[in-house]
Amino acid sequence: MPQLKYFAPNPDYRTMTNITRLGVAILAVRLLGAASPARVESAGEADPLTRLMAGDQRSMEIHYMHPHQTKYRRELMAKGQHPFAIVLSCSDSRVPPEVIFDRGLGDLFVIRVAGHIVDDAVVGSIEYAAEHLHVPLVMVLGHERCGAVEATVKGGEIPGHISSLTNAIKPAVEKTKGMPGDPLDNAVRANVEMVVEQLRTSKPILSELIHEGRLKVVGARYDLDTGVVELLTK
Ligand SMILES: [Zn+2]
Repeated sequence: MPQLKYFAPNPDYRTMTNITRLGVAILAVRLLGAASPARVESAGEADPLTRLMAGDQRSMEIHYMHPHQTKYRRELMAKGQHPFAIVLSCSDSRVPPEVIFDRGLGDLFVIRVAGHIVDDAVVGSIEYAAEHLHVPLVMVLGHERCGAVEATVKGGEIPGHISSLTNAIKPAVEKTKGMPGDPLDNAVRANVEMVVEQLRTSKPILSELIHEGRLKVVGARYDLDTGVVELLTK
């Protein structure tokens, strides 16, 4: 529900009776609510995690606002980027962070690899964004029914270079063996938590930035059925 503080009354507002004011206020809320069920919060108005979750709310409700997807934004971003969040997510075609979080050009620094595994290139990319672009938040975004995690859970012969993915995910699968519930979803969640821990303890740059309070790493799981992003770590 939009808040009244965003409703700017005209000068005649002062001459209205209290009852008329109340009527105008209710009408404004209803009109704003109908025309704009969600709004794009601006930088400085909300912290990065709140901005991400607000975007997921719009995306979940299919109330996309497609912010920062204009010619003006492209020209502005050509001069330099200032993304507000880093997202490490799976390459799965159903989980593009810019769509899930309803964002546009220059908003998110995205690293995608199947199973959102961590290797030197991934850590280097995150270090670059955190250290040089001063991005204050990393979100590790796993998702429901992840194929890379599923292949690891199933085990057996893994062809080609795919084994580099399953080998990286294997510790999360081992950790959840015998746990109650769905083995695949348990492993998906454990894989997110494992990667969050790998990044939080990564030396020398990420752990130092976290220690200084300049970086936060959180983990989340995207639900393919509902579009909900659930935070798994704080
Ligand atoms: Zn996946």
